[in-house]
Amino acid sequence: MSHLDDSLRYFDRAARTMDLTANIERLLVTPARRLQVEVAIVMDDGHVEVFEGFRVQHNDARGPFKGGLRYHPHVDLDEAVSLASLMTWKTAVVGVPFGGAKGGIKVDPRTLSAGELERLTRKFVDKIHLVIGPDVDIPAPDVNTNSQTMAWIMDQFSRYHGFQPGVVTGKPVALHGSLGRDAATGRGVALCTKWALEDMGRSVDGATVAMQGFGNVGSWAARILAGWGAKLVAVGDHAAYLEDDSGFNAEALTAHVATSPERSIKGFAGTPTTVEALFAKNVDVLIPAALGGVLTADNADTVRAKLVVEGANGPTTPDAHDKLVSQGVVVVPDILANAGGVTVSYFEWVQNTQRYYWDEEEVNTRLERVMRKAYDEVRRVARHRDLDLRTAAFVIAIREVGKATVLRGI
Ligand code: GLU
Repeated sequence: MSHLDDSLRYFDRAARTMDLTANIERLLVTPARRLQVEVAIVMDDGHVEVFEGFRVQHNDARGPFKGGLRYHPHVDLDEAVSLASLMTWKTAVVGVPFGGAKGGIKVDPRTLSAGELERLTRKFVDKIHLVIGPDVDIPAPDVNTNSQTMAWIMDQFSRYHGFQPGVVTGKPVALHGSLGRDAATGRGVALCTKWALEDMGRSVDGATVAMQGFGNVGSWAARILAGWGAKLVAVGDHAAYLEDDSGFNAEALTAHVATSPERSIKGFAGTPTTVEALFAKNVDVLIPAALGGVLTADNADTVRAKLVVEGANGPTTPDAHDKLVSQGVVVVPDILANAGGVTVSYFEWVQNTQRYYWDEEEVNTRLERVMRKAYDEVRRVARHRDLDLRTAAFVIAIREVGKATVLRGI
């Protein structure tokens, strides 16, 4: 099963509980544009390498297309279509006035020098600049891209279109970025974890956490949760899996990753373990915050956590999701749990548009307000209609995007 099949299955099961017309249903699953480009650059040793780049614009009924760009060897058109559709639902769940898009380049950025990475990014912008823009489609960071990538995109775009800071979000604060954007996805994940624990009659203080992925999302979620008294007892990334029942120091671990040559937790003090053992660890919360498709029908029944909070996009296959739910596990779905990033992307875009910048407290307060409202609405719909949280989140998203589509007229 591909990512695309997975996201369509989630869409279908929510759509089946609603009375959508066949026309609306068809419009909601059809991506508006699928762009594939060949990106050729001269490598440091003088030879030319060609990389495949993608931008999929899924739906803009509620506002300009919005979503990240990832640099990863697994990037392809199908994955981008699936992830673009998740962005459409995610922006609708939190009520930010954007649609959904996603893209990226099929590359392992760890094998490129900084110069090669910059040339690749600028060349990619040369190929897609006509279909992006502050009122058209606004990229952002995703897997293996960061604020530096966004700075290059803004600069390259401005060579064609003049000064347009709102063309991308997740920019450095020194270059029209927003305070709080860096931490925003992880903060949203941490907030959802805290609220879901409270709904289960538990407190975040003292709760044990296993985290897969310690990049931007995982490291911020871990640090914020640690600040509230949670204990990170297992963690893994592309190069190592470690556990420590006395709890990792999330700040020290983040500092280690920042200076490690592989940008990994590898080499930090802890007992080596495996991904299988991390998923099966006896913890209160499991947070997959790396890549998609990691919780599957084969490993779902090993999960002992009673709460799974999806920091990554699409980490749980539909079969795994059903198994988890039938085991009594609460799953806070990606389109709610990791929506803090796009929420503060929206704040960044608003600040860019107004040329007026907020302090961090204002960003964080507004983020929490938006996430709380979305969380409460998903929970309300889930209880009222006897649905799991994911199906409820899809129902809300489909309802909102459907309304906008009908109002606009087909
Ligand atoms: N890549 C992030 C996501 O998947 C952020 C997208 C954005 O801010 O546009 O939600």
